[in-house]
Amino acid sequence: MAAFGPRGDTDLTSPRPLIAGNWKMNGLQSAIGAAAEVAGWVEAHAVAARVAICPPATLVQRMAARLAGGGVEVGGQDCRAEPSGAFTGDISAEMLVDAGASLVILGHSERREGYGESDALVSAKVEAALRAGLEPIICVGETLKQRRAGDAVAVVSAQIRGSLPLALAARAFAVAYEPIWAIGSGLTPSVAEIEAVHLAIRHAMIDRLGGDGAAAPILYGGSVKGSNAPEILRAAQVGGALVGGASLTAEAFCAILAAA
Ligand code: PEP
Repeated sequence: MAAFGPRGDTDLTSPRPLIAGNWKMNGLQSAIGAAAEVAGWVEAHAVAARVAICPPATLVQRMAARLAGGGVEVGGQDCRAEPSGAFTGDISAEMLVDAGASLVILGHSERREGYGESDALVSAKVEAALRAGLEPIICVGETLKQRRAGDAVAVVSAQIRGSLPLALAARAFAVAYEPIWAIGSGLTPSVAEIEAVHLAIRHAMIDRLGGDGAAAPILYGGSVKGSNAPEILRAAQVGGALVGGASLTAEAFCAILAAA
């Protein structure tokens, strides 16, 4: 187990924080203008964090072309574990890379719950992302019932053990802690609650990957907005944010970036 400093930081060099927008199933071609506005804002301001936008798959290529060479990366929201084949409606990690993506969100609760994605499937998708050269953002988080039962730490620790393949060692990746009850609800855990779960996630990552689990950023996700971003982004073991609703307009997203 690595040594932790007063803020819960490890002794190892930390990568830059990451703030990623998850547009979910929102955005037509006209929405690429909002991403370009974000990129313009990032260029004009010294943003301490890496910035990414994960639009629907239909926009990845056009957004990546529009933002190429700027300060905003483009990511996918999911991928299939196989590189190609008879999987109607699915896209592979290789296809996302081909379209210009550099990251991919995997294991989002909307996929775990809506499509029955297990930890084992998420782990296979993470391996696919690494095979293709994508940086995975692996989501974990508890339901309200699990939190009320006092099981939040046990749930996310089990998700870390099951969803993070050993192939992540020495590779770039991030984990996102997204309490399911905080997503899109306007509710957020207290800073102390976020810190407690992030520290438990850090321990679980180190247990799983050794020293390679000590430095990858742990993003917080769930109703992050401009008004709560400063305290959340300053919290111990918080290495950025995964942002849903507030990433859909340049104004709301840049208000969060301003806090980085
Ligand atoms: C998400 O779904 O990843 C998310 C964090 O959503 P929101 O910011 O809207 O709660």
